[in-house]
Amino acid sequence: MKVLKFGGSSVGSSETIKQVVDIIRTTRVDGPCSVVLSAMQGTTDSLIEAGRSAERGDDGYIEILSNIGERHVTTIRELFNDGDRFAISDFVETTVKELENLCEGVRLIRELSSKTLDRILSFGEIVASKIVSAKLAADGIENEWKDSRLLIRTDSTHGFATVDFVETNKRIKDHFVASSAGVHIFPGFISSDSAGYTTTLGRGGSDYTAAIIAAAIDADVLEIWTDVSGMMSADPRFVRNVRQISNITYREAMELSHFGAKVIYPPTIQPVMAKGIPILVKNTFEPENHGTLIESESAAKTEMIRGITSIDKITVLSLEGSGMVGIPGFSKRLFDALSRASINVILITQSSSEHSICVAIEDKHANEAKQAVDREFEYEIAVGRIDPLGVENGFSILALVGHNMKEHTGVSGK
Ligand code: ASP
Ligand code: MG
Repeated sequence: MKVLKFGGSSVGSSETIKQVVDIIRTTRVDGPCSVVLSAMQGTTDSLIEAGRSAERGDDGYIEILSNIGERHVTTIRELFNDGDRFAISDFVETTVKELENLCEGVRLIRELSSKTLDRILSFGEIVASKIVSAKLAADGIENEWKDSRLLIRTDSTHGFATVDFVETNKRIKDHFVASSAGVHIFPGFISSDSAGYTTTLGRGGSDYTAAIIAAAIDADVLEIWTDVSGMMSADPRFVRNVRQISNITYREAMELSHFGAKVIYPPTIQPVMAKGIPILVKNTFEPENHGTLIESESAAKTEMIRGITSIDKITVLSLEGSGMVGIPGFSKRLFDALSRASINVILITQSSSEHSICVAIEDKHANEAKQAVDREFEYEIAVGRIDPLGVENGFSILALVGHNMKEHTGVSGK
């Protein structure tokens, strides 16, 4: 079975939803499929805003929710005939009413817990997936909508819950055994804890939902439908002659994602990677484009460099001094100090002489890093064993990514 995931821009308007329906129709011809949907683009942000405004005690949430409702109702009006519209319009109206009540509660107690926020956010994915399901049915494509909260079990870390894979995989498998539907529709992003409370899987979590389902049922492929035609060999904003990458390995894709090309987010695809299920990145607005196929090993003989990518606003920290040569523990203390200050390290080098250690961090953490490290090594600096931390900002990291580079010499020289 194929699992297809459509992001927020793919369900952003009635026009794009029609494209989604066409894609599902075409996929269905070859056999049953599962579809995971995000909220309409911008909805999650608006719902957060609504909750926050209620928490501040103002009634701005009323307008925000009414805009959200209006947008969904307009989309429905554009998608359905009068006869087919009734049930789904009704559902959206009831849902918006419920949201208003929830936010009113938040406004009264002036408190928005992450638990309540998760409940508020769940409406985005639920409504969008219900609309797609209803549209498929209206177009004669039989399908079954299933609330992902009944399948994906997590802990109670609201906002960024951790999945209980044993329970989740069992529930997903049971669902597919019990259901004979040809098209399965699931809202992305949402899950529930053991007490039945709604949880969410972190921003952008619909990819994760799709990967979890694909892995649980050993899907043939996970298709991520988005608004670009896959991964590019470099950032088109900086490089003129970029090419689309047609095949890539997971590891190369992760390197490219890490260094800028955010088509996939590595932690979310981990479940399918672990099973070797291929991921196909496709463009909803250009479905004929072959997209990018991400696999454990890429079959085709390939070019040496798969892509070039970069991150900017980088600060390089260097810890130097003859006093740390041959003495264990300096790097541990350096990284401890950074980690205590919640500073993420992007790149690490140490010279073989052990006379210097360099790490790259984001520019915005430069001052905190300087303070944290100089404080940690106060004594060593005072007695001249090492120098105060060197800090240089405004760098970029440029990365050449390609599995085949390791069998070849001269790439970096070139
Ligand atoms: N709607 C959620 C978000 O905006 C999840 C997703 O789109 O994947 O983060
Ligand atoms: Mg999204």
